Amino acid sequence: MSQHPETRAIRIQTEKTNQKEHATPLFLTSSFTYDSAEQMAAAFADDNLDINIYSRFSNPTVDEFIAKMADLEGAEDGVATGTGMAAIFGTFMTFLGKGDHIVSASAVFGSTHTILTKYLPKWGIESTYFDMTQPESLASAIRPNTKMLYLETPSNPGLDIIDLELAASICKKHNILFVVDNCFATPAAQQPIKFGADLVLHSATKFLDGQGRVLGGVVVGKKDLIKQLYLFIRNTGPSLSPFNAWVLSKSLETLFVRMDRHADNALKLAKALEKEKAVSSVRYPFLENHPQYAIAKKQMQNGGGIVTFDIKGGVDAGRTFLNSLKMISVTNNLGDSRTIASHPASTTHSKLTADEQKAVGITPGLIRISVGLEHADDILADIQQALQKCKS
Ligand SMILES: *Cc1c(COP(=O)(O)O)cnc(C)c1O
Repeated sequence: MSQHPETRAIRIQTEKTNQKEHATPLFLTSSFTYDSAEQMAAAFADDNLDINIYSRFSNPTVDEFIAKMADLEGAEDGVATGTGMAAIFGTFMTFLGKGDHIVSASAVFGSTHTILTKYLPKWGIESTYFDMTQPESLASAIRPNTKMLYLETPSNPGLDIIDLELAASICKKHNILFVVDNCFATPAAQQPIKFGADLVLHSATKFLDGQGRVLGGVVVGKKDLIKQLYLFIRNTGPSLSPFNAWVLSKSLETLFVRMDRHADNALKLAKALEKEKAVSSVRYPFLENHPQYAIAKKQMQNGGGIVTFDIKGGVDAGRTFLNSLKMISVTNNLGDSRTIASHPASTTHSKLTADEQKAVGITPGLIRISVGLEHADDILADIQQALQKCKS
């Protein structure tokens, strides 16, 4: 009988050592030894990727984290990286080359936008943005030299959602790789491979760690694609440290319970915010008034842990709100046990023009809440008292 993902997130472990340890040990070693010169020679054979040589290449603690992530996403294999950006950059560099073209959703993570617009052109790789809320614009953005479609769903911070099955079918028709950043949903809420994605990647720094402690990244997908990516990461060096992998692997044991609570708290908060007079609109994938609610319900098991809302009074009200919070942390990270508030218009997205901000769904009074694991009433109470201060 096959086990449930909740069980496998806990029970997938590397082989025990002769110490018969219960929890996975931390293999904090940079290299591994051989019994003989012949064994060492065999380890370096091109088709022999299973023997541990050096922790830039592979490490048992890192492998446990990869095995869990591949399993939870329904993928054949995976590669871990030092950060989410290393996963994204490594994926671009492995599968794109001079003269290629990539189509990306316009609402992508800030550093991903920088890679697409500032660095890829240096190597002769062009990109085109399409609007995720207009999926029919996707096909027309694809050119003969397009090699990849890249997107996040739900997006940051707009929480736009695209039909993964539809996007995958367009990619299949045009024979291009479909890559999804599944950072906001996590495999506890959405498994893009099930809908036809070729590669799924994560900033493990966020909900996968879940306590704001370590940086990490991971890419999972079909074995042949992962092997190419693995060789790129192994040779160029942005590998995940065994220590961070150990932290992340422990984190996955609690991923499902945490995501249940994140999503419960987020839905409660979203519903309560809809009744607040100082708030003009609220967005959460599992609120019925979300423009892509039906798609969210079709492809997500829960609405995730991020809620956004618009404060009446624009940028000034947004700043007043942040300055008035007593418990909730004001920081740019997300996916933490502690609730976090941020104001994209005056921070992460302040370099965009007003029109660019509008195009990716950032209004002057937009507040993004990464809903934590505290009691829902305490989170709401802090937000309500801060909203009181915004009424002018
Ligand atoms: C944070 C984040 C990244 C980048 O990950 P790092 O671990 O910070 O390098 C990429 N995509 C999304 C959606 C993110 O939230």
